[in-house]
Amino acid sequence: MTDFKALAVPGVQKLNPYVPGKPISELERELGIENIIKLASNENPLGPSPKAMAAIAPLMSELALYPDGNGFELKKALAEKHGVGMDQITLGNGSNDVLVLLAEAFLSAAHNAIYSQYSFAVYPIAIQAIGATHKMIPALGWDSDSPLGCDLDAMAAAIDAQTRLIFIANPNNPTGSFLTKQALYNFIQQVPEDVIVVLDEAYLEYSPESMRVDGSLWLSEFPNLVVTRTFSKAYGLAGLRVGYSLSHPDIANVINRIRQPFNVNSLALKAAEAAIDDADFIQKSMAVNAKGLELLCDCCDELKLRYVPSKGNFLLVDFAQDAMPIYEHLLHNGIITRPVANYGLPNSLRITIGSENQIQRLINLLPTAVA
Ligand SMILES: *Cc1c(COP(=O)(O)O)cnc(C)c1O
Repeated sequence: MTDFKALAVPGVQKLNPYVPGKPISELERELGIENIIKLASNENPLGPSPKAMAAIAPLMSELALYPDGNGFELKKALAEKHGVGMDQITLGNGSNDVLVLLAEAFLSAAHNAIYSQYSFAVYPIAIQAIGATHKMIPALGWDSDSPLGCDLDAMAAAIDAQTRLIFIANPNNPTGSFLTKQALYNFIQQVPEDVIVVLDEAYLEYSPESMRVDGSLWLSEFPNLVVTRTFSKAYGLAGLRVGYSLSHPDIANVINRIRQPFNVNSLALKAAEAAIDDADFIQKSMAVNAKGLELLCDCCDELKLRYVPSKGNFLLVDFAQDAMPIYEHLLHNGIITRPVANYGLPNSLRITIGSENQIQRLINLLPTAVA
C-alpha cells in the first residue's frame, strides 16, 4: 500500500489537523441523549440575524445560478459601513478562507510567518500547508497583565528578512485575551513595511464600543495591515460561511488573483448584506453574551477556578487538573464544551457563552464536574 502521507508536501505531513467542536448530531448518535447544548464552537445562541433569514428565504428558486463572483452588493454595503473603497475588500468563504488566501499569496517555502502560542489553530495550518516556516512565539504566562496573551515584544524581535506575514487575533481565540489599542498600535509601527500584519477581528463585536480596538481605522496609516472580520460569530451566520478582509487595494488585488471565482455562495452574500443592517440583533447578541459571561465568571470565582478575562463570546477556564474527565462529565450530561489540549492547554476547556438558560445548566453541573 502506498504511503500517501509520505507523498504529501513536507509541511502537510507535519501539521496538526484542525479539531472542530463535536456536533450535536454526533453526540446524539453516540449517547442517545436529548436536549444537548453545544458550547464548543463560539456559535451565537440567538441563532442567525432575523433580517438575514428573511433576506435569503426568497432566494431558493435562484439556487441554480452562480453567485455574483464579485459580491458587488455586499462589498458596497461593507465599504459604506467601514468608510473604505470597495477595492479594499476581499470576501471569503468564512474569514478562514481569506486567512488561507493570504498565506497562499504571500508565503513560499523560503518564507516564514509569525503567530503567538495559544492563538487560532488555523494560522499554523495555513502557513504549513504552503511549506513555509511557522514561527510560534511563546505567549505570556497566566500571571501577566494579559494572561496567555501575545508577547508582542518577542513577536517583533522574531521578524527577520524572510518574514512575510504576522497573524494576530484580537480578541484571541481560544484564550479570550486581548491587546490594548496602544500596545497593538506600537507593535504595528515597529513592523517593517514589507511584512504584512493580519489582524483577525472575528470577535470585535463583543467588546463594548468604548473599549473596542478597531484595526480598520489604521488602514490608511499602515498599507501593510490587513484586518479580517466574520459573519460567523456575532451575526450568527457560521453555517453560511462568509467573512472578509479590509486592506490596501494592492493587497486585495493580490489575494483576488487566487480566490476561487465564486468563493462566497449566493445565500451567504445576501444574508451578510442584510445582517450588516441588523444593529438590534448585534446589540442583543452583545447583551446576552455579557450576561452569560458574568454568570460563568462568578461561578468560576466561587469554585476558585482560574480563567482568562475574555472579550469574546467564550471563556477559557483552567481546572488545575486534566480537563478531559470534566469534559466527559459535561458531555454525558448533554453539554459539549471544547477541549484545548491540542493548543497545549490540557487542563483547560473553552466554554462558549450560550443563552442564560444554557449557561445556568452548565453552572449547575460544574460543582460536581470539578469535585
Ligand atoms: C471563528 C474565528 C474565525 C472565523 O472563522 P470563519 O471562517 O469566518 O467562520 C476567525 N478567526 C478566529 C480567531 C476565530 O475564532
